[in-house]
Amino acid sequence: MTVETSFYIDVILPIPLERMFTYTLSAPESHLIAPGMRVAVPFGKSKVYTGIAYRLHNTPPVAYEAKPIQQVLDEAPILKATQLAHWQWIANYYMCTLGEVVRSGVPSALLLESETLILPDRLDAVPDTELSDDGFLVIEALHHQASLRIKDVMDITGKKKVLPLVQQLVAQGLLRLQEEVQEKYRPKTEKYIRLHPYYQGEEALQALLENLERAPQQRKALLHYFSEYAQQGKPLKIKDFEQKSGVSMAVVRALIKKEIFETTTLQADRIIYQAGEESVAALTLNTSQTKALNDIQNSFLYKSVCLLHGVTGSGKTVVYLKLIQEVFERGGQVLYLLPEIALTAQLIHRLKVYFGNAVAVYHSKYSQNERVEVWNNVLAGNDSAKVIIGARSALFLPFADLKLIIVDEEHEQSFKKFDPAPRYHARDAAIYLAHLHEAKCLLGSATPSIESFDNAQKGKYGLATLPKRYGEVLLPEIVLVDLKEAYRKKRMKGHFSELLLNTIKTTIEQREQVILFQNRRGFAPVLECTTCGHVVQCPNCDVSLTYHHGKRQLRCHYCGYHTPMLQSCPACGNSTLDTKGFGTEQLQEEILELLPSARVARMDLDTTRGKYAYNRLISAFEAQELDILIGTQMVTKGLDFKNVGLVGIMNADALLNFPDYRAHERSFQLMVQVAGRAGRAHKQGQVLIQTYNPHHPVVQHVSDYRYKAFFEEQTVERQQFKYPPEIRMIKITLKHKDFNTLTEASDWFSASLKNVLTVKVLGPEAPLIPRIRNQYLMTILIKLPHSKKVSQLKKDIKRVQRSFDSIGKYRRVRVVYDVDHI
Ligand code: ADP
Ligand code: ZN
Repeated sequence: MTVETSFYIDVILPIPLERMFTYTLSAPESHLIAPGMRVAVPFGKSKVYTGIAYRLHNTPPVAYEAKPIQQVLDEAPILKATQLAHWQWIANYYMCTLGEVVRSGVPSALLLESETLILPDRLDAVPDTELSDDGFLVIEALHHQASLRIKDVMDITGKKKVLPLVQQLVAQGLLRLQEEVQEKYRPKTEKYIRLHPYYQGEEALQALLENLERAPQQRKALLHYFSEYAQQGKPLKIKDFEQKSGVSMAVVRALIKKEIFETTTLQADRIIYQAGEESVAALTLNTSQTKALNDIQNSFLYKSVCLLHGVTGSGKTVVYLKLIQEVFERGGQVLYLLPEIALTAQLIHRLKVYFGNAVAVYHSKYSQNERVEVWNNVLAGNDSAKVIIGARSALFLPFADLKLIIVDEEHEQSFKKFDPAPRYHARDAAIYLAHLHEAKCLLGSATPSIESFDNAQKGKYGLATLPKRYGEVLLPEIVLVDLKEAYRKKRMKGHFSELLLNTIKTTIEQREQVILFQNRRGFAPVLECTTCGHVVQCPNCDVSLTYHHGKRQLRCHYCGYHTPMLQSCPACGNSTLDTKGFGTEQLQEEILELLPSARVARMDLDTTRGKYAYNRLISAFEAQELDILIGTQMVTKGLDFKNVGLVGIMNADALLNFPDYRAHERSFQLMVQVAGRAGRAHKQGQVLIQTYNPHHPVVQHVSDYRYKAFFEEQTVERQQFKYPPEIRMIKITLKHKDFNTLTEASDWFSASLKNVLTVKVLGPEAPLIPRIRNQYLMTILIKLPHSKKVSQLKKDIKRVQRSFDSIGKYRRVRVVYDVDHI
């Protein structure tokens, strides 16, 4: 036997394994491969995964015999070294595996595996004659079968190495991957017009204009089209055209009917713009904006993170634009993070006007192909992806030359990811990403998180402020309505105080719009028997069922369980069931009764499920087809409506009394943010807050927009009771279907932690909702001072978990880590 040098590669598999797996390479493969490339590898008995090559070496693994890789899938790395370093940090910091980060960071079209389900998309997108023999076999099979697994493709073609084949068929639009079926996001589309190609020539055009001598309005429209078109060189939006040309829609329609104009519908984020057709340079900042910009730039000389605290409507976006412009001119990449996919539509438009086709959009609701396309453009540093807008997942792109990250609405909870792992906070991960790239990071908010403001106060971050709205508009006036008094004096109609109801009426009479905010959906959150006091509960979760009047159903908001409305109490049998509390649905019913002529809509999870529902509601409200929009926290997000005169907050107490150390912070943010939807354009708006506690300090701070006072009070409280940012927290949740096993297991886990760790370990304790989907939950909370080294602590915790995992009876107990949980 001869001994040869062996080549090994450590591969990250996209599964929750603590370690990487080592495979063997042939000598030629070892020359081809580099870290960051994808490899197809066998795993277990019959599985194939796409893994990421991590490290080449010559040492065989000790515990098992390494198998050969199946195939190298890339010619060049698709992941960058800095990116892998960032992912490693996420895995360490948030206590998950690198595989889990890979799984959520790489578009799944690049991570095909034997179990991936593929479906026909447009099977005729490519003529049969242009398909390879194997491609033909796959397409042929899908003519007879609804779907195939990749392992079926292996059988059909009689080959093992089929991932590149499938990937190509997906890229050609013939096949798609299963997850796209659930695609909910629908990009906003808009109607555009252009001249029919028939009239492109001089002569045809002259003839046309003469022809229209007797239709002066149509002629006017046409002439306007030319002046606009020549100026802008982009498709013309019908709505804008109608407004700017000064002709009526009927005239535009007539021209379309005569086939002089033709219409096209374009996806708002795919419209081709001339780069920089309006320049940021032409935007004039007012004095405070100029100062804020200077402050940011100065702070960037010394610090990598800066917080921009600007009230709603102060023009934070305009300041962002100036900063982006600077990077853009030097050719660097910018990442612009938003908390919600829904908010990207408004922004895409705004950015494309200035940065043209350099703007790319990336988020999880984009189709596989589009995501792969953006990925490749970012990787190559192409001009088509210099300014990247996205939600959380855009952090994972393979940036080639990242210079600036903007985290807009940095206080938003949705930046924190929950299930599944990695449970990272996108703002914090962005700050670390900026650090790795030696880039700058700007956080923006009207209501900064306590952590970020604290960091700014301590000088860790720079701070810039925009204390006033742009254009002399005052922040809305906030009036408090004492509910206790209103009930006592019988000045209530349903859940509306007379003052709120009257203000709604006058607002509508003045042709302005109203937003009503109530943070509960459904009709009523509790159904209770007035005879025996029984509260109707979900069979799978320890929560009360919410009554939904429209469907006459009781529904669980945690697991989706639902059942027809009960006629009598399941405990005592009396028909004395009564609802308690109120949700958006009940408000809508009351309003329709109190103001029958008002045009009312509701925006919550129940009304925005459909594909277009969310956009439709927003558009209808923007177009002033609605007088009143009732909604949950969905209406508090950074939406920019021009005509809202009044915002009503139905019940501040429900927010304030939530048992969580962040309840006050969240209440302040929600109320100030929803208030910020009023009076954005010209006139000062009005806000009415109904509460039983008008003297509650948080309500008082909201009513005067006293962020600083609010911040100081919170800081004192958190120092006193030991909560972040005073300390750090790691929440460990254990889950199991048997209560006794879980209790025993969490006692064991907690006791071992207390034994090993030198910091405070609290619990186990049952959380607010102790059972969800038939799984019981227990939480253990670890509080550690900033002086302690976290990395060692996390290693110690993981060691405890390894001992825990080796105990047979606890094997099925799931352990979930939530670092910096919010
Ligand atoms: P914020 O993000 O702080 O809530 P925006 O950036 O959306 O505020 O600005 C509010 C409105 O004021 C927008 O319609 C914006 O176009 C306008 N605006 C702000 N600053 C300027 C400026 N310097 N020039 C022109 N318009 C501005
Ligand atoms: Zn349930």
